[in-house]
This record gives sequence, C-alpha cells and structure tokens, in this order.
Amino acid sequence: MNKKILISGGAGFIGSHLCDFFINNGDIVWCIDNFITSNKKNIEHLLKDKNFIFIEEDITTINEDKIDEKFDYVLHFASPASPIDYLKYPIETLKVNSIGTEKMLNIALKSNSTFLFSSTSEVYGDPLVSTQDEQYWGNVNPIGVRSVYDEGKRFGEALIMAYHRKFKLNTKIIRIFNTYGPRMRLNDGRVIPNFIYNALNNKPLPIYGDGKQTRSFCYIDDLIEGIVKVLEVDYNLPINLGNPEEFTIIELAEKIEKIFGKKLGTQYKEPMPDDPKKRKPDINLAKKLLNWEPKISLEEGLKKTIEYYII
Ligand code: UDP
Repeated sequence: MNKKILISGGAGFIGSHLCDFFINNGDIVWCIDNFITSNKKNIEHLLKDKNFIFIEEDITTINEDKIDEKFDYVLHFASPASPIDYLKYPIETLKVNSIGTEKMLNIALKSNSTFLFSSTSEVYGDPLVSTQDEQYWGNVNPIGVRSVYDEGKRFGEALIMAYHRKFKLNTKIIRIFNTYGPRMRLNDGRVIPNFIYNALNNKPLPIYGDGKQTRSFCYIDDLIEGIVKVLEVDYNLPINLGNPEEFTIIELAEKIEKIFGKKLGTQYKEPMPDDPKKRKPDINLAKKLLNWEPKISLEEGLKKTIEYYII
C-alpha cells in the first residue's frame, strides 16, 4: 500500500534523501522547506513527479489548518544542523525545534500519523562517557553557543514525549550521529565537506583544536535504511542511529589525503567553542530492535561522496 508522507526540511541533506527513498518506493511525498540552510537543487529532480508536492514555507509560521491531509508519516527534519549554520541562525534553530516541532506534532495528531523527530547526538553534549547509549542524559552547556541546537533538540524530545504520553501519538525519536554523503553543502562548515572542499582546491586541511577529538561517521544510505526501519517498529523512546567506527579528526585528514592521493598537509586552528571531545554511538538498541547496522565503511563512503562533487 502506498503511503502519504509529510517531510519538513525535505530539501535538506538528509530530508532530500528521504524524499528520494519514498518517491522511489511509489509513495506520495509532501515536502515543506524554506531553504534557510537547504538547496532547491536537492529536490529539483522531484518537482515534476506527480507524487511529489512541494510547499515553500517556514514551518514555524505555517498555518496548520492549511494542511488537512491524512498522512501515514510525519517526519520532522527541518533545522539548521551544522555548527556554523546554527551559530548563524540561533533564534531560527531554537524556533524550528520548539514551535516547528509543535506545529508538526499538531499536523500528525490531526490524522493520527506516526511522527518521527530527527534528534541528534548533540543532546549528549560533550559526553563524559566514551560510548553514548540512549540512557545517557548528556553533558550540555545550557547557555553556550551550541545550546541553541542542543537545547532546541532536547526541548523537541521533551515535547514529543509529552504528546506521546498525553495524546498517545505514535512518536519516534532518532538521535542521529555525524552523517555524510552527497548533497551536503561544501560550505556548510562540517568537517567532511570542508576537507573535501580544501582537497579539491589543493589547500591544507583545517583542523580545529588538537585534532584528537573523535567522531563516528555514518554514510547517508545506511542512515536512511535505519530511519525507515524505525518507522515500522513498535518503540517510542529515542534510538541512536550512527556508525560506531570512531576516528580522530587527524585520522580523517589522513584518509582524505590517501583517497585524493596527494599531500595536502594540515593547518591547525582555534578549537570550536564547546566542541565535544569524543562521539561514538552505542547502537546495540538499533541492532536489536531494527536488525540494522551500517554497512558502508568510511573509506567507501568518502569515495562515493567525493565522486558526487567531482562529477
Ligand atoms: N572540524 C575540523 N575542521 C573543519 C571542520 C570541523 O577540525 O574544517 C572539527 C570540529 O571542530 C569537530 C569535528 O571536526 O571537532 C566535527 O565537526 P563537524 O562540524 O563536522 O560536526 P559536529 O560533530 O561538531 O557537529
């Protein structure tokens, strides 16, 4: 049976890959986006599809009454997500994760849809434990510059659990760890697009801080597979989605150099404020509930991503 799906932030990096997935599956996709940090190019190929309905609007000011459809799924992916984006749009980030989440929840409530929220590993802040499972409450600076994103997502999670408990709405929360792949903006400031941009321009790779901080990078196709599985499972508490293979930023720079096959060198810069020193998901819950784990290695994923920017 074909499904009807509403995706906020559907023109963004992850949102547009979700639109593709559901359109290719024969479903009907309603996509809302205001292009604050996304790109029309990501959905251009879908605009002519009769199953794809696009609404250019800010979900924090949208009139929910205008959207009177019966959706099977409401997926809330609208939000600036890279540190430089949410530092540039602090108020918008807080609003889209609070007011925007409330509006999307109300749309889901009208037609008793399954609701899914794209939360983040940032809810764990600068973690004091080396692998973060869903039980960990986090170590977040509530007034730091990153708090607009961290606390925005934490508020979103709280609001969703309140709707779940009060209205019995079938809600899902995924905590997405660093994800990469085609369609990330090369200037979005995140480490993988930044390194690719610099490598393409034969410039040294900028490393913020000492480069010993760690991240675990998940390729977009693996993430999309996980998200789709979450929608079908009978579970309403947060689920970590990410790739548990952990690398220091120095190791990532070395991989990029190796793939490009040229000596680029590194340039050390000031650390980002409140930059988490380590990040590695515990995905045992996702493995057990969804029978899912990432399959694409960092090297393979980087090669696919680089191809997208070269062609
Ligand atoms: N980083 C870096 N060089 C860059 C961009 C980022 O060293 O050009 C570092 C950043 O300080 C952080 C890590 O790489 O420690 C991942 O940053 P990103 O912005 O990709 O995502 P985050 O995990 O911080 O949200």
